[in-house]
Amino acid sequence: MKKKKKRYNQSQDIKRLCFPEEASISWLPMLLDAYFIADKAIATAIHKRISRGDRLACTKGCSTCCSTHVTIPVYPLEVVGIYWYVIEKMMGPERQVLKRQLAHFRKGSACPFLIEGACSIHPMRPLACRHFNVFNKPCRPGEDPYYTRRQDVLSPDERAKNRAIAAMLPFHGIKDRAKRKIAMKSGFLNSQVRNLHEIDWNNLAMRMDGKRPTLKV
Ligand code: SF4
Ligand code: SF4
Repeated sequence: MKKKKKRYNQSQDIKRLCFPEEASISWLPMLLDAYFIADKAIATAIHKRISRGDRLACTKGCSTCCSTHVTIPVYPLEVVGIYWYVIEKMMGPERQVLKRQLAHFRKGSACPFLIEGACSIHPMRPLACRHFNVFNKPCRPGEDPYYTRRQDVLSPDERAKNRAIAAMLPFHGIKDRAKRKIAMKSGFLNSQVRNLHEIDWNNLAMRMDGKRPTLKV
């Protein structure tokens, strides 16, 4: 009998993020599921490009994009996730540096979460950052390869992208399948997206000190 050849799937190497708090924080599994769906699809898409001869240019410490891009869409649940991660999980000197950066952040400067060339909220970075991957050569200072060499930018798998977005809908009270379908068709979540650069991050800096109880999403 002919043996079926097992196809290697890069997405199998991707592990879902897990936090012990998931049992007590209702929105957290939704966000982590969304990131898991996206991360798996991105790993597969990157693997495909590499097997066609492209070289992934994004590496640890390469961060021009985080200084250059001033339009970074974030969904409401992602903002909640960032707040939680920063307040509850970031510790030590990095927490102090981030607090200062958030307090002094002005729209158009480098992303406030960028610390010494690395994303300080890497596990909870937004879908937009997860999806942005560039091949063959790193971005030049000030370059947005989406406009200068579109062919080198990873095209995310649209279906997986939508599945990841749909996983966040229960946060908005949209739970059953039919309603999720309607919400996705109507672009409900797209109407909720904000630009990371337009969020009042000073509010988060104050919450890191326990100074303000409200969360602006
Ligand atoms: S998008 Fe460009 S700047 Fe950002 S990590 Fe990838 S190659 Fe580096
Ligand atoms: S959230 Fe992280 S990955 Fe995204 S732009 Fe900011 S520093 Fe870069």
